[in-house]
Amino acid sequence: MLGLSRSFAPQAVRIADYLALLRGFDDGERFYSRSFQIDPWGTTAFLLRLRDEAVAAGWRPDSHDQGQSERLKTLATLEERCANEETRTVEGTHKSARRLSCITDLGPAVLTALEAGARVPIDEISLVDRLEHLPPIWRRMLKALQEAGVKVDQLSLVALADDSDMSRLGASLAAHSPRCSLAGDGTFVIAEADDEVQAADLLTSWLHADNSLDRTTVIIRGSSTSFLDQLLHKAGLPRIGCNRTSSQRSFLQLLPLFLEMSWRPLAVDRYVEFLSLPNSPIPRFAADCFLRALRHQPGIGGGAWQEAWRTALSRKQKALLQQEEIDAASLQKSLAESESAWRQWLEPPCCATEAGMPAAYVVSACTLVRNHAAMMHGVHGKEIFARLALLAQTLAAAAQAAGSETFPRAQLERMLETVMSDGFGSDEGEASAWTAVDHPGQIFAPADTIIWWGFNSDGAPVHSQPWTANEMSFFSERGVLLEDPAMKMVREAQSWRRPAVAPASRLMLIRPRTVCGREIAAHPLYHEIAEYLEKATAATRAKLVVQADQIYKQESLPLVGRLVKRVLARPALLPSKRSRWRINTGAVAPHKASPSSLERLLGCPLTWSLRYAASIRLGNLLSAVDDERLAGNLAHAVFAEIFGKFSELSDSGNSLEELAAAVFDDLCAKVAAPLLLPGKSLERSRLRRSVCEAVVHLQEMISTARFTDVACESLRTASFNDGELEGRLDMLLSGGGNQDYVIDLKLARKSIYRQREMSEGRAIQLAIYAWLCQHDEVEAGAGYYMLGQKQLLSSTVGPFPKHTYVDGEPLSETFSKIVASYAQHMQHLVEGTIYATGAVTDEELQQALANRVSDAEPELSRIEVPGVTMVLEPPCAICHYGRLCGVKEFAL
Ligand code: SF4
Repeated sequence: MLGLSRSFAPQAVRIADYLALLRGFDDGERFYSRSFQIDPWGTTAFLLRLRDEAVAAGWRPDSHDQGQSERLKTLATLEERCANEETRTVEGTHKSARRLSCITDLGPAVLTALEAGARVPIDEISLVDRLEHLPPIWRRMLKALQEAGVKVDQLSLVALADDSDMSRLGASLAAHSPRCSLAGDGTFVIAEADDEVQAADLLTSWLHADNSLDRTTVIIRGSSTSFLDQLLHKAGLPRIGCNRTSSQRSFLQLLPLFLEMSWRPLAVDRYVEFLSLPNSPIPRFAADCFLRALRHQPGIGGGAWQEAWRTALSRKQKALLQQEEIDAASLQKSLAESESAWRQWLEPPCCATEAGMPAAYVVSACTLVRNHAAMMHGVHGKEIFARLALLAQTLAAAAQAAGSETFPRAQLERMLETVMSDGFGSDEGEASAWTAVDHPGQIFAPADTIIWWGFNSDGAPVHSQPWTANEMSFFSERGVLLEDPAMKMVREAQSWRRPAVAPASRLMLIRPRTVCGREIAAHPLYHEIAEYLEKATAATRAKLVVQADQIYKQESLPLVGRLVKRVLARPALLPSKRSRWRINTGAVAPHKASPSSLERLLGCPLTWSLRYAASIRLGNLLSAVDDERLAGNLAHAVFAEIFGKFSELSDSGNSLEELAAAVFDDLCAKVAAPLLLPGKSLERSRLRRSVCEAVVHLQEMISTARFTDVACESLRTASFNDGELEGRLDMLLSGGGNQDYVIDLKLARKSIYRQREMSEGRAIQLAIYAWLCQHDEVEAGAGYYMLGQKQLLSSTVGPFPKHTYVDGEPLSETFSKIVASYAQHMQHLVEGTIYATGAVTDEELQQALANRVSDAEPELSRIEVPGVTMVLEPPCAICHYGRLCGVKEFAL
């Protein structure tokens, strides 16, 4: 009917089609050439908007038409080229037609048909907007309809004829009067809230207060109702629902995330988001393996990544074996299929940002996403999966239509933005007594109470005139009915006033000052009303502009015809700091020990218990490796790769340095990809130089000491108390008549702390490694190699030069203290007491001060654990459990 049944190409495909036309026509001298070179997608979108506006207003493009501007002539030529291509398609050349037309193209054709006397089965049309405010072509259509016998009415809204604020406001706005005397009688209120949550709480409380008037209440959904719906649901009220589409729905993110995963330098956080998606193409059991790998070595292809593949596939194998009886060949086939499917997602081809992404790859990536989404739709039947399939298909069609071989990153992102702007918005409202509308202009009938939720500016651009004076007069001479942008604004402003001028008894405008943490401007209509508010007295203004936080301060608040009642809840006190925690006897058992777990236990038993006994860890999104650890991981990986082939190393310093540089570059993307991101080049090149020089220096030291074998990253395990102790050694040197020697690599700004640790008998790692590598009860030598300083800190006088020796407690004695302290700590834990050594309470501090013998005595900074001789500082500064034990306070 009226020609509205045709379907049209998505906007992204139209833009891509038009872009190909513009590119084909561009000889470098066109009016759009320079803009097109810089931003092809944005330039095309603007020119297509001009074309749509002109065609919708009745312009019939003709490149031979005299008097038109260069711009219009170009647009007309493009239209003709497009029409010729379509003709060739009809003739069977199979060239796809450009999909330029859109729904507004039909206006002139409908008008022509109506003016030619076409009959339509419509009896009556009621206009909410004033006829003179409508676009010219609509006015002509309505006139033609009237002439064809259709009755066209003008609806008029008249405010109630009483003496309330609501009626006065409506009358003043309708008359554009600068004066309106408001009394604060509660029929008109602006409710201001600090944020959207407070605003939602206010409206929920108001709706909950009295439902007898809900049938005559209208709610305008002026902004997202996400928080509001959650609070309504909690209060047992129906959700209002929001028709707004959102491109941020988690499953829809699959398309942009997957494309971003193909760009290099690699954005590891995009991988983490992809693997954390609900309904990710990688099953949860496998995604966890890759997430763990990325947390330790953020990159693709390194040791942790390969290990993740092995673990994921072995989990898959276990699941297959548990599910069904399966023969060996089918098992292998099924595993190979899973691996190949996962690799498509996890190891896509790399596209360098400078080179752009090949169009063929964009299409294949979209196809992969579309197929996965279609499969999910088949299984779960949810609409959002079908929506994603459609969006992926649209992007593929746009990539093909644009006719480019590669897409620069910025252009692909704009294309994606256009495609995703359609988003998905299936938040259906629940059946309710009230009526919900999406725009104030939809109010055209009487209501008792109108609530405008989200009385804020939507930030839409102001309408501007895109045409020059010459173009306007050219159009006017040819009867093209362009709409005046000023009239669009008038129409819009009239629609905003409609809730106030409607015959309603009450109006509440709800305005949060911040949304999503950002300040947000009031709705433009507020500025008209503000004039009236300014003239009111302070007391009246306080009644007209109500602060939403009043519901937290008053037990009852009269608000727009209802009494909002709240019961004041006393805030519960958070648990205070505690230095001793009681648990059930035997609840904590000895755990497999390692140097880092022992350091943790000796520093603070509570952090050890939470980490190892309770397995409370940071989530994957929060536990990304910081820059310092990233650099350390990369340096360790380079040393392991080079010294793992010690016997093949050349003695030449130059070639070794070159080898180290090549290994560094190769491993950077595999284990420390964030270092390749823009802005990290200085940091990366410093680290590279430092690592390469250290490799040469350490190799010389090892060779001079005559060691013949180096084992890297070797795992040693031994019985320890009632359990096991294991340690992974960075480097174990042997041969050449030397006693075995363990080197622990360290990357730190200063070496003084490690030196102090050794001289004060706190070198726990070295003591454990030396014990793990003992032969015939003779412990190995051990030392820290400080990469940045190119300095070895050795616990033994030989075989390295004498100056490397750090005088201090023998490692065997340190180890004995570790054993005794470990046993003592475990006894406390097994008996049910956990010490939080850093959580000194105020009472304990006061008590210690009172017991002080002299003023020179240091303040109590840690809790003593009875019977423990190896005392380390509690690691509160880097501990993630500070908010659980009370050391770090919650910010409320
Ligand atoms: S913050 Fe300090 S006291 Fe609390 S658990 Fe961590 S290390 Fe222990």
